[in-house]
Amino acid sequence: PLVLGIETSCDETGIGIVRGRTLLSNTIASSMDEHARYGGVVPEVAARAHLEALQPAITAALAEADVSLDDLDAVAVTSGPGLAGALMVGVGAAKALAVSLDKPLYAVNHLVGHIAADILTGDEVEYPTVALLVSGGHTSLLLVRDLVSDVELLGETMDDAAGEAFDKIARILGLPYPGGPEIDKAAATGDPTAIRFPRGMSRASDMAEHRYDFSFSGLKTAVARWVEQREAAGEPVSVPDVAASFREAVVDVLVTKALDACARHDVPRLLLGGGVIANRRLREVALERAAAAGVAVRIPPLSLCTDNGAMIAALAAELIRGGRPASTLAFGADSTLPVTEIQVAPSSDA
Ligand code: ATP
Ligand code: MG
Ligand code: FE
Repeated sequence: PLVLGIETSCDETGIGIVRGRTLLSNTIASSMDEHARYGGVVPEVAARAHLEALQPAITAALAEADVSLDDLDAVAVTSGPGLAGALMVGVGAAKALAVSLDKPLYAVNHLVGHIAADILTGDEVEYPTVALLVSGGHTSLLLVRDLVSDVELLGETMDDAAGEAFDKIARILGLPYPGGPEIDKAAATGDPTAIRFPRGMSRASDMAEHRYDFSFSGLKTAVARWVEQREAAGEPVSVPDVAASFREAVVDVLVTKALDACARHDVPRLLLGGGVIANRRLREVALERAAAAGVAVRIPPLSLCTDNGAMIAALAAELIRGGRPASTLAFGADSTLPVTEIQVAPSSDA
């Protein structure tokens, strides 16, 4: 089926068009520049930016895919989780589009969309797989037995998301927002063993309860304290060393837990997603340790890892392939939609 997907859960206005498992276009407009001076995404600013960006993004995506609105078989949209106001703009637009075109509408889960992105790489995807999703808003470890029917939450962050931690540490170090790429750059010339920062909740006993939750606030405090103490003592702070040591701690925790989950559930596959996957050290360590553990790692191209509409369209196409009915229009934006709710408001229990 030819599906147009709309994604507006955070700062990216994403419109993607897929035909089944084939990616036709993936248009992304970001309002990140407008948020940068606030040091974080401002919900109202994001919502208004979506409103302005949607129409041109749809037009551009249709042109790039060389299809017209009438050709579409279905419309798909992220209904959550994410920023309520931002989600609402996409949900409203998707409903308007589906009603005016008289096409079925699929309301789907953003996090499961991140997993569906992998389908568009063209390689055969195998389930079950463990999936690690790390972005500015999420740090989730999932067990995916079946993309359209069985996604289990193994753990998530109890406080800051991984990307958020990068952004906060960057601020402490006087680096601009968003901090992830800046820390990555600074860390390149630093010593990752210079400072031993804490690895929150990653002892064997923390994972023994079959829980894989994350916590990055202790690490953030430790870095802040370390920098403060140095400065108070009049000693120099090596930004590259702090950045590299901090990055090493985050990467260590993420990879340790993901691979432990693979072993515990006897799943030799790990899928990585979310904007933090742009981190070079994370990919390097994940690939290295997974190879040693006999786990196959999948990392979609970054354009499919960060928020985008194609992954939303891809998930809907899989739902259609699985014979799932469309969503009714009786759904709204749900900022805390649980990951187990893969599709929202299906019109009957299929
Ligand atoms: P959501 O949580 O809804 O997916 P988001 O927009 O916050 O939305 P992304 O756009 O996927 O998330 O990713 C942005 C985050 O990724 C930011 O926190 C940014 O600092 C982080 N990031 C980007 N590049 C890197 C990098 N090289 N290393 C570490 N973090 C990075
Ligand atoms: Mg973003
Ligand atoms: Fe996301």
